Amino acid sequence: MPIVVLDPGHGGRDSGAQGNGLVEKHLALEIAIKTRDILVKQFEVVVHMTRTDDTFISLSERAQMANRLNADYFVSFHHNAAGGSGFESYVYIGTRNQRTGQLQNIVHDRIMEFLRPLGIRDRGKKEANFAVLRETSMPAILLENLFVDNAGDAAHLQRESFRTDLANATAKGIASALGLIDRFPPTAPDWKREAIDWLYQEGLLTHEDWKKSIENPLPLWAEAVVLRRLFDKLNK
Ligand SMILES: [Zn+2]
Repeated sequence: MPIVVLDPGHGGRDSGAQGNGLVEKHLALEIAIKTRDILVKQFEVVVHMTRTDDTFISLSERAQMANRLNADYFVSFHHNAAGGSGFESYVYIGTRNQRTGQLQNIVHDRIMEFLRPLGIRDRGKKEANFAVLRETSMPAILLENLFVDNAGDAAHLQRESFRTDLANATAKGIASALGLIDRFPPTAPDWKREAIDWLYQEGLLTHEDWKKSIENPLPLWAEAVVLRRLFDKLNK
């Protein structure tokens, strides 16, 4: 399965940008965690995080973590400050016209598809000599998700539903950039996905292939296996 490393910027003694009651390190972590949860729930992908709590990790350590995992993609989550508004994304200098840039186009465009109707400005697809982009040995992107010290941007970031939708757009962008396989048919409504997820969580169904044709009945032998497992569980 493809491996994605999500990198919430800053952490611990390094708070990052601040403004309007928003602190970059907390916001980046929350949106990265939401993105991870959406990715693993919906797609065939392994997701690692460079941090899952408020700790300081150096830029080189973050890159090395991804290199050791031999990850397929590295996504760094940041928020901007100091004079401006809107969204921008970065790849390493000289990689805009390589595969890294192609992946950036897909992720960036998917995020802007969500942001543009809200009137949020597209600051563009950029290149920079950032350590996490330079030191990672796989395609890498750094997202600057709006300006915490801009009143208009901050008003969006302060809304939980906005943060969830932004994570969703980011997850969908990563999925389509890497061509991740959807674990469910795209038309399956949430209640069907949840019902099926429960069967797997409880260990009543284990083989992933059943998920690919969720409208079809199970063969009699598979129904027998599910019932037998349930029976064994209840009689434990
Ligand atoms: Zn930052």
